[in-house]
Parts: sequence; C-alpha cells; structure tokens
Amino acid sequence: MADLKAPLLITGGAGYIGSHTVQYLLKQGERLVVLDNLVFGHREALPEGVVFVEGDMADAALMERVFAEHRPEAVLHFAAFAYVGESVTDPLKYYRNNLAAPLTLLETMSKFGCHRFIFSSTCATYGDPVKVPIDETHPQAPVNPYGASKWMLERVLRDCERAWGLKSVFLRYFNASGCDAEGRIGEDHDPETHLIPRVLMVAKGEIEKMTIFGTDYPTPDGTCIRDYIHVNDLASAHALALEYLRGGGETTAVNLGTGRGFSVKEIIATAEEVTGKTIPVEYGERRAGDPAELICDPAKAKAVLGWEAVNKEPRSHIESAWKWMTGPRGGRYEG
Ligand code: UDP
Repeated sequence: MADLKAPLLITGGAGYIGSHTVQYLLKQGERLVVLDNLVFGHREALPEGVVFVEGDMADAALMERVFAEHRPEAVLHFAAFAYVGESVTDPLKYYRNNLAAPLTLLETMSKFGCHRFIFSSTCATYGDPVKVPIDETHPQAPVNPYGASKWMLERVLRDCERAWGLKSVFLRYFNASGCDAEGRIGEDHDPETHLIPRVLMVAKGEIEKMTIFGTDYPTPDGTCIRDYIHVNDLASAHALALEYLRGGGETTAVNLGTGRGFSVKEIIATAEEVTGKTIPVEYGERRAGDPAELICDPAKAKAVLGWEAVNKEPRSHIESAWKWMTGPRGGRYEG
C-alpha cells in the first residue's frame, strides 16, 4: 500500500475562514480532517474529499478517537466564537470556548506527539493601538474578552512550546472579508455584524439602511479606518505557515493584513459602485470598543512566510461577497 501523507486536522473548518482555507489546502493536495461542532459552521461549506467529524474539541474521548484514527501531522485551529460585543456581555462563554476548550485538544496533541499548531489569532490582541501601522512588537493589551481569550491562548501555546516542544504560528488577522471568487462558499454569519456583508445586505434590500457607527473619529472623513484582508489571502497565509513549521520554524506571531486602511464611508461608496445601488445610511453613535484606526504592518509576514496579500483593494472583496450574496445560494447555506 502506498504511503499516505499524514492529514491536517482543521478545527472550525466549516466556518467562514476555515472553509476557505480548507478549499485552498485541498487544491494544494493536502489530506484534511475537519472537526466542527456546527454551532456556527455549515456542513455545506465543505467540499468533497475531506473527512468530516462533527463534534467538539473539548470532548476528550472524541479527540482521542480522532487522533488515534487519523494521526494528524498538524492542527489548524479556527474554531472560536468571534462576536466582540457578546464577549463583553457574556465573557465566560468566550473564555470557555476560545480558551478552555482548546486545552483538551492540546492535551491530546501532546499525547500523540503532534507538534505543529497554526492559530487563528487576531489584531484584537493588541487592543487600542498606540501606533499604526501595527507590527508584531506592538504591546498586547486587549480591550475585550474576545481579544483577551485569543491573547491568553497565545500564552498557553508558548508555554506548551517550552514544556513539550509544540511549535505554533499565531496568525493575527486584521479585518477578514470577501468570499471565494467561484461563489461556492462564502460568509454566512447569523447574526451578521460585519461591515461589508451588512452594506451588501442593504444593497440587496434585506436591511433598510446602514448605520455608520461614529462620524467624529480623528480620521480624514470622521469614520473608522480598517485594514480589510481577503479571506483567500488568509487561506494562502495558512499554507505558508504550515510550510514554515514543516521547515523547522520556531513559534512566532505574524500579522495578516494589506498595510492599507479604508474608512467606513469609503467601503460604502465602493459597495455602491460595485452593486450599482444607492445604499441609504444613517449616522449613529460610536460602537463601544472601536479604535479609530487599525492598520497592519505586514512586513514580518513577507519576511518570515514569504506572504503578501494579493487582493489589496476592498473592491475585490466587495465584488466577491456580492457574487456570493446574489448567487444561487443567495448568501446563505441553509434555507
Ligand atoms: N461598522 C459600521 N456599521 C455596521 C458595522 C460596522 O459603521 O453596521 C463599522 C465598525 O464600527 C468598524 C468597521 O465598520 O469601524 C468595521 O467593523 P466590523 O464589525 O466589520 O469589524 P471589526 O473592525 O469590528 O472587527
């Protein structure tokens, strides 16, 4: 029997960023085992050819079975809750799912000698920026439990490196957006709180108007500036992070963004151009916890991983998201 290479275990592989990465890695010829409890993930987001296990990473017996059967070479860990506002009102839910649950996964990795971990971290671990663009040496002072839960897991992973040799890459995403251009998979959150999909929901007539959260920020047009990173660029970064670890790389943190910022008003104007629709807006209060400007310094990603974003303009993010939302599924996997 020909030797099959060991698979990768992808937690949260049926979610938004996870499913785009699954598709990317599958095309690269990787063998994939996806673990997802389907709380937010969608079974339909997974292509043919992946092994799917429905369940939770906190289930020790299940983890034992998955590792015994598949002997994964590395874990790409996407599974997490990601609503910043909810994390403030229900912090324990976030610490349980984003911090405590992965401990069982890590214990099982240790037991089975699996020493590579690629972690979906976030620029929210930096908190309010003291300088932009933000590089990886920026102080980490998260201002909400979501960011704190991710930052604490980074600490745990560093401790695991010291104790049993786990090597990790912390990929600190800026604003993930866009969808795969083929339109088979996309972004389907319920509730949807993110700017680009909400703007497009207004363009589609699903929401009456857009509320801009704050117009008095110290930015050129008064609205917040973010660094929007295309989900397929995130996917390629995961593949490169895996190569980095396979090549014997040490634990490291890498920011993933374009290095360019766009305001809320600029995003809405681009969405009007792409969709050909007028997007009614109202001006609302600032949303609690929103920094004025978040822009990534992507230099380390290029130096360490050889990675650079391909989609540098949010236009391509908006175009691909619009294609998904107006395609056969209408932007939804179920009903
Ligand atoms: N935003 C907005 N109206 C909305 C949703 C978001 O004005 O309905 C703003 C939000 O205040 C932030 C930017 O758009 O400045 C991006 O927000 P999003 O929730 O997409 O990502 P975040 O930066 O919170 O990760």
